[in-house]
Amino acid sequence: MGEDQLLTRRDFLGMASLLGGGALLSGCGLVAQAPPITGSIIGQAHRLGHRLVQEGFPPPKKTLDTTVAVVGGGIAGLSAGWKLKRSGLKDFLVLELEAEFGGNSRSGENKVSRYPWAAHYIPFPRPESTAVHELLRDLGVEKGADEAGKPVYDERAVCFAPQERLFIHGRWQEGIFPKLGATGEDVRQWTAFEHRMAAFRRMTDKDGRKAFAIPMALSSRRSDLLELDTLSMSDWLKREGFTSPRLRWYADYACRDDFGTTVEDTSAWAGIHYFAGRGAGDDDQVLTWPEGNGFVTSALCRTLKENLAGPLLVFDVAEGPSGVTVDAWDPKSRESVRVRAKAALVCVPVFLARRIVASLRRQAPAWTGTFSYAPWMVANLTVEDPPVGKGFPTAWDNVIFNSAGLGYVVAGHQSLEQQRNSEVWTYYYPMPQTDAAKARTTALSRSWGDWRDLILADLSRAHPGISRQVRGIDVMVLGHAMVKPRVGMMWGQDRLPFRPSV
Ligand SMILES: Cc1cc2nc3c(=O)[nH]c(=O)nc-3n(C[C@H](O)[C@H](O)[C@H](O)COP(=O)(O)OP(=O)(O)OC[C@H]3O[C@@H](n4cnc5c(N)ncnc54)[C@H](O)[C@@H]3O)c2cc1C
Repeated sequence: MGEDQLLTRRDFLGMASLLGGGALLSGCGLVAQAPPITGSIIGQAHRLGHRLVQEGFPPPKKTLDTTVAVVGGGIAGLSAGWKLKRSGLKDFLVLELEAEFGGNSRSGENKVSRYPWAAHYIPFPRPESTAVHELLRDLGVEKGADEAGKPVYDERAVCFAPQERLFIHGRWQEGIFPKLGATGEDVRQWTAFEHRMAAFRRMTDKDGRKAFAIPMALSSRRSDLLELDTLSMSDWLKREGFTSPRLRWYADYACRDDFGTTVEDTSAWAGIHYFAGRGAGDDDQVLTWPEGNGFVTSALCRTLKENLAGPLLVFDVAEGPSGVTVDAWDPKSRESVRVRAKAALVCVPVFLARRIVASLRRQAPAWTGTFSYAPWMVANLTVEDPPVGKGFPTAWDNVIFNSAGLGYVVAGHQSLEQQRNSEVWTYYYPMPQTDAAKARTTALSRSWGDWRDLILADLSRAHPGISRQVRGIDVMVLGHAMVKPRVGMMWGQDRLPFRPSV
């Protein structure tokens, strides 16, 4: 569905009166005034990042020496720092351009709740995800193992029930597959699809490697599996006889949710990985916190407080005979600083690495050009007397059928309080259009009011009158949110040098 179809005339008329803040006329006379909705677009660091393209920087006046310079303080940079520290190294720096560390795993807080700004959960890690288990044990989230050797997690971090619901045909149902109103054939195909994914989940090759592992480098290299990367998820569904429009919507939702791409643009290998890379039954659960993965980020920042340096915009990383020099610009002092290190770990998206790493700037290998990034918008809404709606009760994740958005996650779902008068809802809106640059321009040109109207029009399909309950909407536009796992991207020739030979 095109995003413009989201807004119906009725929505606009309803909202025009609500958002105007004036008194509303109903059939019986004057009714209460709609309270104003406050908010803004926050986190505009991309403007700082644009300096990399647009301007030169003054030569460094100051030099710092360290053993390892980690460039980028997102979850990749912070977890690299955590691993360095665990390995006994004390002398390293993590350089970050934003005032806050965490990148797409950042979080925020208001008087109602903490909330995520993008990443909000970690699926129960499978046994091969050894680094994730190590990190979770270090953070006290993984408490030990039961008699069968299965990990035991802090129960406050295991997503409380109910986990997911879907709004369809005017009511909420449990789970994301659209069961309400489904035909017998829809259900038959969905069941067959689930069986196929379960088979992929159990599949191993002759060397004992899983067909779909996390990290993906541990996955099987069997040719029939890697060939799945040469067709789209949409073509794979068709090839396998999965023609049900509801099953297609379900697969498309999964691709938009996990990658910010449509089913047509997603590699079938990646699309299947979404389902088959996770556990099954009791192991198909997620770890989450009110602030989402900001919980992990904050814990890592506490551990690494001696090693964090920012805000600093790194503009050059150059290898020399005796190590690496990392030049960064300090937006506060408006001066540059040089960090001399034995090694540097560049933990920024590839489109930025191409600009700052001197060797990539000189001659970028082909793989650096294969990365395309989908833009996203994430909003945190403060909702007073949050509505529940008909049918199934409020879940952690609340999805609206046939919407361009992905619905909302209730930040306070993990709270132990029974009654909450106000809640924060995190609303997710990917922009999966094939032309990512055009989608980015659209995303960045929208005003706060445009986003507010779009969000409220979408949510009012499931919660009519929601505008009257929303008190605040803060919006973050992530111009380059996620790498698109397009056809050929995962196992194609271009990325061969980039891939670890495990
Ligand atoms: C909407 C959304 C929802 C998501 N949900 C989930 C989820 O539920 N679970 C999950 O596991 N994953 C999720 N993800 C994916 C996850 O957020 C990312 O995979 C992860 O955060 C990427 O981390 P990173 O450190 O590689 O990159 P980033 O988060 O992009 O971090 C890179 C960091 O480098 C900094 N930087 C960039 N250039 C420079 C420079 N020149 N100098 C200094 N610093 C620089 C940036 O400011 C940033 O902080 C989601 C992503 C999005 C967008």
